[in-house]
Amino acid sequence: MARAPFEIAGTRISPGSRTQIDVPVARLYTHAPLYIPIEVVHGRQPGPVMLVCGGIHGDEINGVEIVRRLLRSKQLQGLRGTLIAVPIVNVFGFVQHSRYLPDRRDLNRCFPGSESGSLGGRMAALFREQIVDHATHVIDLHTGAIHRTNLPQIRAQLTPGGETERMADAFGAPVILNAELREGSLRHYAQNRGIPVLTYEAGEALRFDQWAITPGVRGVLRVMRRLGMLAGEKRRRLVPAAEVANGSSWARAPIDGILRPQVRLGARVAKDELLGRVADPFGNAEGEVRSVADGIVIGMSRLPLANEGEALFHIARFDAIEEAESAIEDFHSSLEPPPDALY
Ligand SMILES: [Zn+2]
Repeated sequence: MARAPFEIAGTRISPGSRTQIDVPVARLYTHAPLYIPIEVVHGRQPGPVMLVCGGIHGDEINGVEIVRRLLRSKQLQGLRGTLIAVPIVNVFGFVQHSRYLPDRRDLNRCFPGSESGSLGGRMAALFREQIVDHATHVIDLHTGAIHRTNLPQIRAQLTPGGETERMADAFGAPVILNAELREGSLRHYAQNRGIPVLTYEAGEALRFDQWAITPGVRGVLRVMRRLGMLAGEKRRRLVPAAEVANGSSWARAPIDGILRPQVRLGARVAKDELLGRVADPFGNAEGEVRSVADGIVIGMSRLPLANEGEALFHIARFDAIEEAESAIEDFHSSLEPPPDALY
């Protein structure tokens, strides 16, 4: 018997076909309609329904490129199951180069939302009902906030042997943060609904970073392969080892001033090691930023201007620090020579 069409946002997609849909979300003041653009690839064979979405924070654009490359991948030709690809969720913020919605709310704190709530609540409710609730698995793509960059990392709530752990393991990012769920996030909503969900964090807002995009595309494809949605590669690349962090903390600016970092993203650091110096413009006053723990620098500020207390270096702690360090070395060598486009 032929597989049934996939129905989403009022559209039917036949097995073995793909369709782009503009999902109406709101109107601008000018009366012009605003849409969330999505593409659905409905395989001939049954399988999971994977939602891959970017741009819930409108200024995080690495995910938009990850989705574009994913959709161009020839590997999707033999897809089993269904891929729902959403390059930009917060279309308002994307147009404005902003993380937020026009009412300054963070869409990723508005889930599950409600049809009679704020703009953010309504958008969250619409995205959830029209799109997320159709998925059996979710990968949500993010970057660091503005002026902050993240080492490629997966954030997920892991239970041993669970489906989320299986996805996190398959993705192959060098670091996995077994992170608490944040109230109102898409990840929180999906997890509570029993949908296994990963957040991929890599790179910086408003920037394209090949070292974030290429592993992101590879990671999504690896997860789809692990779930049986794609056939195994002929030349099977080994999934790089990932180490699970057991916590993380920020090293903060001791005084107001100008930062001179002393470490790179991905560096292994010891507790109390010097990470950077903050000085006033004359160098009269100078303060040292020291690591709060033994760990790996998984995020850092890219803007050398700091106010006292500002978060500058994000340090992840590991039980197996040596393994974490070598996972990062393997990750870097897996990207050598530096990644180029995978069109
Ligand atoms: Zn984000």
